[in-house]
Amino acid sequence: MKRLLCAACAVLSLCAAYAASPKYVFLFIGDGMSVPQRMIADEFSRAEGNGPLAMNAMPHTAVTRTCSADSLVTDSAAAATAIACGVKTFNGASGVDAEGKRAYSCAEAARDAGRKVGIVSTVTITHATPAGFYAHRRSRGELYAIAADLVDSRFDFFAGGGLDGQYDKTDDPLYPAYGNIYSCAESNGYRIVSTKEEFLALKPSDGKILTRFTDGPLEAAIDADYAREPTLAELVSKAIEMLEGENGFFLMVEGGRIDWAGHGNDAATNLRDVLALDAAVNVALGFLDAHPSETLVVVTGDHETGGMSMGFAGTGYALYMDRLSNQTMSVGRFGARIAGVQSFEEAIPAIREAFGFRFDDDGTGNPMLLSDGEKDELSDAWVAGRLPDACRIIMSRKCGIGWSSGAHTAMPVLTTAAGCGAEAFAGQIENTAIAEIIKAFYAR
Ligand SMILES: [Zn+2]
Repeated sequence: MKRLLCAACAVLSLCAAYAASPKYVFLFIGDGMSVPQRMIADEFSRAEGNGPLAMNAMPHTAVTRTCSADSLVTDSAAAATAIACGVKTFNGASGVDAEGKRAYSCAEAARDAGRKVGIVSTVTITHATPAGFYAHRRSRGELYAIAADLVDSRFDFFAGGGLDGQYDKTDDPLYPAYGNIYSCAESNGYRIVSTKEEFLALKPSDGKILTRFTDGPLEAAIDADYAREPTLAELVSKAIEMLEGENGFFLMVEGGRIDWAGHGNDAATNLRDVLALDAAVNVALGFLDAHPSETLVVVTGDHETGGMSMGFAGTGYALYMDRLSNQTMSVGRFGARIAGVQSFEEAIPAIREAFGFRFDDDGTGNPMLLSDGEKDELSDAWVAGRLPDACRIIMSRKCGIGWSSGAHTAMPVLTTAAGCGAEAFAGQIENTAIAEIIKAFYAR
């Protein structure tokens, strides 16, 4: 067993007391998940009678600074490179340092120390966050090259979204001719799994895995058809089953669509994806319960998205998180639903179904009843071609949720941790410290 030598782990941990590194490491990343996203989902969960989020009830917490090498406001590629490789780089860079040189990720360190490695994401598996753990490209936009890095990574398990359609590019002189990436993955020993049924039936003897449920991202949790696609918790359960063994594993799991809902200022969709991530964290915490002296679970975010806040001038000191349960689909799905609708009157049933808004007073004091001003706001928005935006704005207002941006902000994120080595996550840290702490487990 290796001795834990990391300076960042100066505080004696349970595993340090046993002179060992955690055999099993889980790193969860909520893309665009900072304090407000975690706490809004937490308050919603409490209002629904389900108590606080598991990720917020973990025993160790570090406030985590997210800036990149060239901006206080990071993008996901630079943030992933910091969290994975321990270097600050420029926005847009995947797995290279600020000079463009190849960096070394904690996932690669785990692999080189003989651990099995899994990468899971709800968005495309070549997207910025997962790419930070296996790719080395100056631009996150080099999707075909990133996919080529994926099949060359020698990692054991890739699951979730697809390769963003960038898998069959044979004519670009910039890249080596990998041809069809899925064929290439098969030659490198990966089994391609396309259905949920096939996925759930996988056994450890099936070897290395690359899923292809879709070529794009998985659905937002609020819209998902879980008969067709696995939940994030199911992806994590299967990852554990496939990777568990004598050598241990490192597993990175991204809740990627939290960020997208943040960009869209779509609060209910945002919190449903935080809840889906929390359910997956719960699976890891169950594993920690069964292997308490050998397991570390870490949950972090890469940055905040949307300038989301709990509290809004229009509702004063009141917050109504429970009202978010009235929304049944993402704003994006609602937009697609009304695409062929010809008049505002015709759109009203879809508005009721998607957001729970009430147009007629039935005398029950339903808080989702629209005022005359709000009805005018919606009909004006219909004329202007921006009805989905008006619906999400009224929804956030009725709940007391504010937004200051359609982009990322420089707010710090929370890193919470439980298990072997978790004490190292304390105080205020840089996002690069996460990689440093994890890499030290694998130092030779
Ligand atoms: Zn983003």
